[in-house]
Parts: sequence; structure tokens; C-alpha cells
Amino acid sequence: MSSEVRVRFAPSPTGPLHIGGVRTALYNYLFAKQHNGRFVLRIEDTDQTRYVANAEQYIIDSLNWCRIPFDEGPGKNEKFGPYRQSERKSLYKQYADELIANGKAYYAFDTSEELDAHRKDHEAKGKTFIYNWHNREKGRLVNSLVLSEEETQKRIDNGEKYVVRFKTPQDKKVIFQDIVRGTIEVDSNILDDKILFKSDGMPTYHLANVVDDHLMQISHVIRGEEWLPSLALHNLLYEAFGWEKPEFAHLPLILKPVGKGKLSKRDGDKLGFPVFPLEYVNEESQEVSRGYREDGYFSDAFINMLAFLGWNPGTEQEIYKLDELIKDFDLSRVNKSGAKFSPDKTKWFQQQYMQSKSDVVIAQQFQEILVGKGIETEINFVTTVVGLVKERAVFVEDLWDLSSYFFEAPSAYDPKTSKKQWKETTADLMQELIEQVEAIADFSSENVETQIKTWITSKEIGFGKVMQPLRLSLVGALKGPHLFDIMHYIGKPEVISRLKNAIQTLG
Ligand code: GLU
Repeated sequence: MSSEVRVRFAPSPTGPLHIGGVRTALYNYLFAKQHNGRFVLRIEDTDQTRYVANAEQYIIDSLNWCRIPFDEGPGKNEKFGPYRQSERKSLYKQYADELIANGKAYYAFDTSEELDAHRKDHEAKGKTFIYNWHNREKGRLVNSLVLSEEETQKRIDNGEKYVVRFKTPQDKKVIFQDIVRGTIEVDSNILDDKILFKSDGMPTYHLANVVDDHLMQISHVIRGEEWLPSLALHNLLYEAFGWEKPEFAHLPLILKPVGKGKLSKRDGDKLGFPVFPLEYVNEESQEVSRGYREDGYFSDAFINMLAFLGWNPGTEQEIYKLDELIKDFDLSRVNKSGAKFSPDKTKWFQQQYMQSKSDVVIAQQFQEILVGKGIETEINFVTTVVGLVKERAVFVEDLWDLSSYFFEAPSAYDPKTSKKQWKETTADLMQELIEQVEAIADFSSENVETQIKTWITSKEIGFGKVMQPLRLSLVGALKGPHLFDIMHYIGKPEVISRLKNAIQTLG
């Protein structure tokens, strides 16, 4: 194995990528970049029955949206390619054959009906059927360990269906290391003889995964905890081939917000928050699942949240940009116990990023929403508006509700406020106010404020009597930033026109 750090993200294209998968990809990416290594994408599509055509593109789009692109993978720097296991199909058989030739694996001809019968037999006696050392050579199972070489060959030549099983060594303490979990010891006698090669001519996950990690010179395998039970077998396979093992790190599960049970793909619909990075349309059912991107999250906020699901830097710092994560991420600080997913915390990250991004960056995105509503405005103006209202926004989408009156006159007046603030005398007062506004030459916020306040004072009435109906007329409700700023930015003619409108509508 080369000393270069090479890690891989190896999803199976069976549907949209769950946020747990994105977290695995992210940790692989961070680890690779931290060590100037390579981040490889390998598509593990050997199980044709679960294959979903649009899943691979979804995975790639998700990595790109998160800005954690792969260095090598389908269609990119194919030095160790192809990177889709279905395109490597012809390559695996020789490795299965090699193990058979060395006595480390064997052919098994048992049909699924026969295996079912064994299972039922065992169940009836309160036992569990495991295909391994204690029964593989007893004669009830049909495999090349009990059949003669000629008989075995004859069956193969006759086209009889077979699988290749790993001959798990007996009475062996399999001891291995995991970066997250430390030393793990497994008694080989409890392991079954896993199928390595299937009757359809395809390798199983275990064989293909180990062979590919070896051929692609993977130095570190970083993957979800659900693969920990396979680790003993994978270690035995490396030993059987005589290959150097990569290092392993198994990441903790992501748990439901209640803290119990794995966060599943179906939880999004049930619990009311997305569990996928991007929106996903099921091609068969046309069912649409929500995604963080479409829900308005920034990818850097999303990534920051994910990084903390199972890792923390050991300090108070929570806001981490991607380059800081690359610097500070530490595989040995990854937790063993499950990480509870929190939709509230996710929103909190989004809010932090919303507040820390520059107004102009936010304005560029907000401008797209405005264009979608048929409003064409200068980016400078949009930037100013963003600066005035941003502190109350969590998503760019929120900005419209918070600032629409900067771009168009209110189409309605909040009924409760109208009832409370618009009195019988208000229309006359607003009419007088129009005359005052008309007379203001310098329409800067400060000057408008001085002029209007002087006028109100001279009339010896409370400020609220004028200011509340004025705000209602300009905004449509009692919300928004400093009223004189609003007046300045929408301009004199618009202020007058909105006041006239309000008088007409509210009477
Ligand atoms: N194809 C496996 C998955 O879908 C990969 C597991 C591994 O990384 O070894 O998660």
C-alpha cells in the first residue's frame, strides 16, 4: 500500500443519499484533504435487484452541492477505474478462484429450498442455523469440501448453480483495530461462511469491497457503524489474500431526535424535516422527498451541522467553515456512541450562517427570488434592504416577508392593526401628513425624521397617532426597520402614493 492517504466513499445506488451517507462522505473528504490525500467515489452496484437509475447522479449532485467533490470516480481521473462495480464484474471471479485454489473458500451447491429446510429444522429444535465449520463438512450440506473434485467439476460443467463461500477459520481469535473503537476481538467460531460470489456471477458486497479497496490502494476505510459486524470477515479476507489491511474507522449511528433508534430514510416524512441533502423524486412512484437545499439551507451550514454529528473539536467553537474543518477534524475524536440529530440545531446553524454572510452575497440569492416575482432591482438596493432586515431572517426566502414593501406597495393592510390604529380622524391626519411630506426637499432619513417629528410636536399629538398609521400605510403591518429609513429608500412619490392608497382603502 502506498503511504499516500486514499479514502473512498462507497455508496450503493439504491435511492437518495441519506444525511448519514453525506456525513460519511464528509468525514472521508475532510480526512483526505487534511492529509493531502485523495477522496475516491466508488459506486457499489453489485446488487442489481436494488439498483435505482437516478441514484448515482443524485449522489454526485449531493457531493457537489456540499462542495465536497470527489477526486477520483466515475468519469473523473479514472486511474484506478472503472469505479462502478458493475463495470468491474469480470475482475472479481479470479479472486474468488484464487481463494478456492488456496483452500480458503469453497463451492456450495445447496439450493435455497434446502437451506430453508435446514433453517426450519434448526428452529424447530430452538437452534439457529449457521453455515460454518460445525456443519460444512458433516455431509448434510452440499459443497466442494465434501464432494470429490470430479463430482464438483461435473456439477459446475453441467451448469448447476453454485455460490462461493469463505471458509472461515475455526478456533481463531480475530483481533483487529478500529480508530474509533480501539481493539476489537471476535471469536471466529461464531462467524458464518459468508457468500463471496453469487450464482448470478456477481460478487457479494464483501468480496467486491475488499478486492476494490485493495486494488484502489485505499489506506483508510471510514464508514458507518452498520458495517462493523463485517469487519472480522474483512480482516480474515485480507489475511486470506495475504494483503496489507487498510486502517478502519466506523462512525457512530445518527439517531432520531428523541435519541432512540437510527434516523431512517422514512423519518423525514414522519417527523417533518428533510433527511436528504437534495430534493428527491422517486421515478416509479413520483413521490417527492424534501431536501435541505430546496428547504433553503446553505450548504456550508448543512455541512457544519453534519460535521458535529459524531465529532467535536473539544472546544466551545461550533461554527466551522470547510477549510477550518479540514484543519481541525480529528478521526480519533469521533464518538463511539450514536449522535442525536436535532432539527432545531440544524436551523440554528443556518441562522448563524445567515447572519455571518455578507449582505451582498445574500442579496445575490435574494435577487433571484425577486426576479422570480417579476421585480427587477439594482443589486445595490437589494443589498441595502438585506442589511436592514436580515437580522430577523433564517432563510433567504424569509427576506421577502420581511422586506416586500421595499419593492412593492402593500396589497393589504393587517386587519387587526387597521382596526386599532386607523381611527376616525386618521384619514385627515394622513392627508395633512401628505402635504408635509410634499414640502420636504431633502429626503434623507435624518431630515425626514426631523421634519415629521417637528410637525407632530407642533400639533401637540402623540407620536403614535401619526407613526402607527404611517407605518401601516407604507408597510401594510406594524413591522419593519426604522420607518424613516423605509421612507428614504422608497422615496417621496411612493410614500405619497401609499398614503393616498391607505386613505382610500381604510377611509
Ligand atoms: N456499499 C456500502 C454502502 O452502501 C459500502 C460500505 C463500505 O463503505 O464498506 O454503504
